[in-house]
Amino acid sequence: MDFENDEWGFDTLAVRAGQQRTAEHEHAEPIFPTSSYVFDNAAQAAARFKGEEAGNIYSRFTNPTVRTFEQRLAALEGGDSCVATSSGMAAILSTCMALLKSGDHVVSSRAIFGSTVVLFNKYITPFGVEVSYVPLTDLQAWREAIRPETRLLFLETPSNPLTEVADIAALAELAQEHDCLLVVDNCFCTPALQQPLHLGADIVIHSATKYIDGQGRCIGGAVVGNKELVGEGVYGFLRTAGPTMSPFNAWVFLKGLETLHLRMKAHSENALQLAHFLEGHAAVSRVYYPGLESHPQHQLASQQQSGYGGVLAFEVKGGQEAAWKIIDNTHMLSITANLGDTKSTITHPATTTHGRLSDEERQEAGIQPGMIRIAVGLEDIEDIKADLQRGLA
Ligand SMILES: *Cc1c(COP(=O)(O)O)cnc(C)c1O
Repeated sequence: MDFENDEWGFDTLAVRAGQQRTAEHEHAEPIFPTSSYVFDNAAQAAARFKGEEAGNIYSRFTNPTVRTFEQRLAALEGGDSCVATSSGMAAILSTCMALLKSGDHVVSSRAIFGSTVVLFNKYITPFGVEVSYVPLTDLQAWREAIRPETRLLFLETPSNPLTEVADIAALAELAQEHDCLLVVDNCFCTPALQQPLHLGADIVIHSATKYIDGQGRCIGGAVVGNKELVGEGVYGFLRTAGPTMSPFNAWVFLKGLETLHLRMKAHSENALQLAHFLEGHAAVSRVYYPGLESHPQHQLASQQQSGYGGVLAFEVKGGQEAAWKIIDNTHMLSITANLGDTKSTITHPATTTHGRLSDEERQEAGIQPGMIRIAVGLEDIEDIKADLQRGLA
């Protein structure tokens, strides 16, 4: 079957794109745990190394299982090229290394994954790249931060843990006006709920560790975009530097993609029900979830996303003490900072994911002491509510 064109629906691509059966006629996708490949003769080896003949050479940059995952994810995001990486952070690092040079400037949303901030500030800026931070939803602030040397705009939407939503199409237009690239970390929505490339973004980043696996087993990442930026640029860095995805992990993620749409729908349904329950609870002062009409970007989220995702946050009256009481009274929810799992997780951002910020920085980021984040899993919604009700009562 040819999956190069647009004639297949999302769910068909999720199940079948990228598969090439071997001579064994296997039905499911095989894992190829091999570091290298043999050639028919010396001339073929020479042609492969010169790039004159397509084919496998060495699994740092050519592996059939990894390639199947890359082709399937590219099809789902609507990109020409995908490069799988050893982690989500490796995907961000590879993008920076491939597309930035000394003297370049990056404008980034302030509300991004903590390790991404550390990567930018501690490891990228020493190479002569400057990074400015702006509030995610303030289009004017993005506009004003752009300089002639700005090369990348970087964001996550919805943000973690406040679930603020950026207008991807508006930012894509801004990036185009100023001849820079829009990079969207699409970890929270996945292509099942949001396709940034279709909204004008240039590059999509994934931590496959989260919803693409969806069952908390493997670490991995990916970069998706056009052939020039990703198929040549990011691939060229990965081929040489080697932050490569293992074939086993690629196989797990590949099978994760097959149920991604179903799982994201179920996560979104559970999260919406929980958000309504919390919004109506006397002990809760505020709920952050894009699916609620009270959310400031509810309208935008409804246009840009086909579901609202599995992550929500809420504030309880009584500050940190009340928040910890709720967490410590759960019997079923997992107390962990991970997300994107079938198992629901509960986190106190102020003392964990955002614990290293100063009080002032935390205030500015909108992380209140009474805030709790829940990555809503696929358990029975009534059991999730009951597990929280104990501490809320
Ligand atoms: C987890 C995460 C990352 C980093 O991914 P790893 O696979 O843990 O390296 C990047 N961005 C977001 C939004 C994440 O949640």
